[in-house]
Amino acid sequence: MKEYLPDMYQKSIYTIDYSKLLSKGIKCILYDLDNTIVASKSSQPTEKAKDLFTGLKQKGFKIIIFTNSPKFRLKTFTEYFGVDGVSSAGKPFTRKLKKLLFKYNYKPSEVAIIGDQLMTDVKVGKKVGITTILINPISDDEIIFTKFNRFFENKKFKELENNNLLYKDSYYE
Ligand SMILES: [Mg+2]
Repeated sequence: MKEYLPDMYQKSIYTIDYSKLLSKGIKCILYDLDNTIVASKSSQPTEKAKDLFTGLKQKGFKIIIFTNSPKFRLKTFTEYFGVDGVSSAGKPFTRKLKKLLFKYNYKPSEVAIIGDQLMTDVKVGKKVGITTILINPISDDEIIFTKFNRFFENKKFKELENNNLLYKDSYYE
């Protein structure tokens, strides 16, 4: 069950204490795209997110969008934000995440993943041993595959709640 327990849980990408991540030795942040940076069905990057990423880059973080969405969707965002990206990441499978660590030459202890799903974002991060940060999804309007994942996620949430490990909307860091 602990393979689904995030290291940190926050409301959104804007409420995370990034200086704390810096002091923990995190150098690279992987962002899920859908329902983490923008609503799942939105293909419109926001200025607010751009400002966040610009600030984080100035702090010295490497920012990479790590999404299961295809290249044509990712491209709009990486271009607008001026960040790197990996599409069709295959989360929760670890192949592309391991490849990324190798390519950019980061140790697992130097990388954090931020996402809205226990079954994909948190799970893949835990498997590889990087820091995992769960945030609440931006919208509940989701593709059918995600709805399917949410069904299992709700069960995991219940399990974590029953064991006093994680409660919805009860944030920690
Ligand atoms: Mg997502």
